[in-house]
Amino acid sequence: MTEYIVKQNALADFFKSLASGRRLLTPRGTGDKCKLGETPPDQVTLEYTNTHLSPKSLLFPQTERLMAFHNERDKPNGYVYQSLGDNGEPTVVFGIRPCDARGISISNKVFQNDRFTDPYWKGKIDQTVFVGLACDAPSPQCFCAAMGGSPFGESGLDALAFRQGGDLGLKTLTDKGAELIKAAGAQEANLADEIKKLEATAIEAQGVKADYKPIDDLDLMDLFKDPHWVATAENCLNCGVCTFFCPTCHCFDIQDEASERGGVRMRNWDTCMSWLFTVHGTGHNPRPTKTERVRQRFMHKLKYIPLKQDGVRGCTGCGRCVAMCPVNIDIRSVALKMTQTAPSPA
Ligand code: SF4
Ligand code: SF4
Repeated sequence: MTEYIVKQNALADFFKSLASGRRLLTPRGTGDKCKLGETPPDQVTLEYTNTHLSPKSLLFPQTERLMAFHNERDKPNGYVYQSLGDNGEPTVVFGIRPCDARGISISNKVFQNDRFTDPYWKGKIDQTVFVGLACDAPSPQCFCAAMGGSPFGESGLDALAFRQGGDLGLKTLTDKGAELIKAAGAQEANLADEIKKLEATAIEAQGVKADYKPIDDLDLMDLFKDPHWVATAENCLNCGVCTFFCPTCHCFDIQDEASERGGVRMRNWDTCMSWLFTVHGTGHNPRPTKTERVRQRFMHKLKYIPLKQDGVRGCTGCGRCVAMCPVNIDIRSVALKMTQTAPSPA
């Protein structure tokens, strides 16, 4: 890990170098118009809170064509298949927030692990370098620090940038990141103490004091059976908005769009909030009411993923679901309710 500095008057050349021979994607626009897009190096801005949608669609698009098939009547085996996998292209993502990079790191363990590698995800992530921008302007919904992250978090990033007055400080975190930042002409600097100071200020600015730690120590079945889930789910519309905005939600459905002679197999985002998502071919549905579906969403984020991923929570505290839920269901209040679960007698 090495720290670097890019002076304000060298920023244009720095971004030009990042864009050389590859796509440069950065947040563009403001408010709910802010989204990651291809950006000319002289138009990169550091003034935004976060992108409206999470960046997960870069690696896991809302709809992805996996393969095409067609039936050749004169061929003995009938169908001919062709992979349509999008393997991505060399890309630098500059300005992703640490909460969202952490979301990618959590989903990476789902799409790439010791039992399975998703070629569509792998093709894209292998060609992408993620340079985060530390958060120094949290929204009222941000709570990454309470979820084990930090406005200066490093998980999922190849390098972390931060604003230092008009200059840009950088810390490289992987070989990929080091190669990119060095080649872009950044000057080595000793910024470790400065980073610590800025991080403490950013956590203070977030101002979240809630402690969700008790959930980690509570028994899974006690949490699962707690009666509060009925009331917690009462207002939920099962619209799925929270899951589509969430950087760590990764449920999908595979569908074939076919005609007599062929078709395309697609992977589409799906949501555990939908009754259809879990209904079996027999008609049986293990999550028949919204109580089970709402419980699944919060238990997955706050208990099941931490059990599978060494304590890392499946919520990064990005605050999108808090901001977007049409009936104001707030994961921070639900997590607090979960901390109050009574342990069953020994
Ligand atoms: S956004 Fe709110 S109402 Fe919609 S499914 Fe999520 S929790 Fe329920
Ligand atoms: S559960 Fe909500 S706050 Fe947590 S990562 Fe997902 S969208 Fe963000």
